[in-house]
Amino acid sequence: MSEGIITASYVGATILFILALGGLSNQETARRGNLYGMIGMAVALIATISGVTGNMGILIGGLVLGGAIGLILAKRVQMTEMPELVAMLHSLVGLAAVLVGFANFMDPERLSHYSGIELTIHDVETYLGILIGAITLSGSVIAFGKLSGKIGGNPMLLPARHFLNLGLLIASIWLCAEFVEQSAAGGGSMPLLIMTGIALLFGIHMVMAIGGADMPVVVSMLNSYSGWAASATGFMLNNDLLIVTGALVGSSGAILSYIMCRAMNRKFISVIAGGFGTTSGGGGGASVEDQGEVIALQAPEVAALLKESKEVMIIPGYGMAVAQAQHIVNEITKTLRAKKINVRFGIHPVAGRMPGHMNVLLAEAKVPYDIVFEMDEINDDFPKVDVSIVIGANDIVNPSAQTDPDSPIAGMPVMECWLGETTIVLKRGMATGYAGVQNPLFFKENTRMLFGDAKKSLDEVFKNL
Ligand code: NDP
Repeated sequence: MSEGIITASYVGATILFILALGGLSNQETARRGNLYGMIGMAVALIATISGVTGNMGILIGGLVLGGAIGLILAKRVQMTEMPELVAMLHSLVGLAAVLVGFANFMDPERLSHYSGIELTIHDVETYLGILIGAITLSGSVIAFGKLSGKIGGNPMLLPARHFLNLGLLIASIWLCAEFVEQSAAGGGSMPLLIMTGIALLFGIHMVMAIGGADMPVVVSMLNSYSGWAASATGFMLNNDLLIVTGALVGSSGAILSYIMCRAMNRKFISVIAGGFGTTSGGGGGASVEDQGEVIALQAPEVAALLKESKEVMIIPGYGMAVAQAQHIVNEITKTLRAKKINVRFGIHPVAGRMPGHMNVLLAEAKVPYDIVFEMDEINDDFPKVDVSIVIGANDIVNPSAQTDPDSPIAGMPVMECWLGETTIVLKRGMATGYAGVQNPLFFKENTRMLFGDAKKSLDEVFKNL
């Protein structure tokens, strides 16, 4: 392929990626957005491969191997494991940036290609690429562990952790200067290796210090880092498309982190500095006995309550994803709407385990988009709601976020379902949610519990409707 066609393909792919991001901002256009993204990636791959002059065997072997692993993973992964998969994929982007950085540094022709200021710029690019890549790599592996429950959700708060972070930052800047200086003389491997170690430790420390409730910000932040790592790789490889694509991922991840922070009423810097989400606060420690008795109902009683209501609000959470209850939720919604009952869905921005988790599930079950609302759009309507059904949600409907300043989720906006006539909570037992906080909602006078797996419970409710 000629140079001109490759450049034109890169421009085309960039436009498709921008259209993809635009499409993903809305449920109705998300499918189209995905399609744009896939076509853009295919164009990018074909154009890049056709420009390669080296060993095609290795390239095709890598493509087939990587493609096969991706295909198998995508087919096997359960919807509830998607957040972990995304974290793992971020770690691979970080690993790729580190490997490309070292390969670039070890390129025997590096010193003959670059000299003077160009060499300095190239070295700084390599250094930054490895730095961001290593932080993304180790941070994402820890995020994977936390999301899959292999690592506890409590934050690990080292004494003087802010000074430790500051020390690591200063050391990285000093090592960068050392690396650039030694590299011009043909050396530099030692500062590069030490910095890689520091960056890996920093990634681990950064994510370990973040408590369960603040994990959504970490997921989106690592998403952003993986973009910047890819962008830095683009600079190292002189690949314009990779620079632009990385920047798109990096900046959209940064915007998502901002949205997540706003949704949780957190300051970005405070989350990154760690310490939120600790369960040592009074709210986290409150035991079940402190709060009184819960009132449990059976499925027929829930069905009767629903039939008598005019306004129903459904609040899905992580448990709906675990139970895969979205399809029966849609059936119940259709039945209630046929009875002229107004059914709406209220989606909390951090419900589930990844941004947009609930929207994806509801779209999969073909719940009409026009009855699905963001928290901000419906939170004032609860006083007019007859029955709210909380399906496997916990932290996002926890009133202690408003009432207990010591709670790990203090200040996080929550769905105020307790202001409605009756709230029915579907869950299997009295376990806490991801943030590890007990929930006073379950003990309120107008709350009723329907215990059991959400899908089985809703199947029963549906039969009784
Ligand atoms: P939570 O994790 O707070 O609560 C989920 C509840 O679902 C649990 O209390 C559990 O109780 C119940 N549950 C689990 N399985 C089932 C089942 N099969 N049937 C019925 N109930 C079930 O979920 P929320 O959605 O309310 O809140 C999300 C939390 O995750 C927040 O703390 C958020 O910060 C965090 N998070 C969000 C991310 C995001 O990007 N959205 C990313 C990472 C973390 P029981 O075991 O008793 O059934």
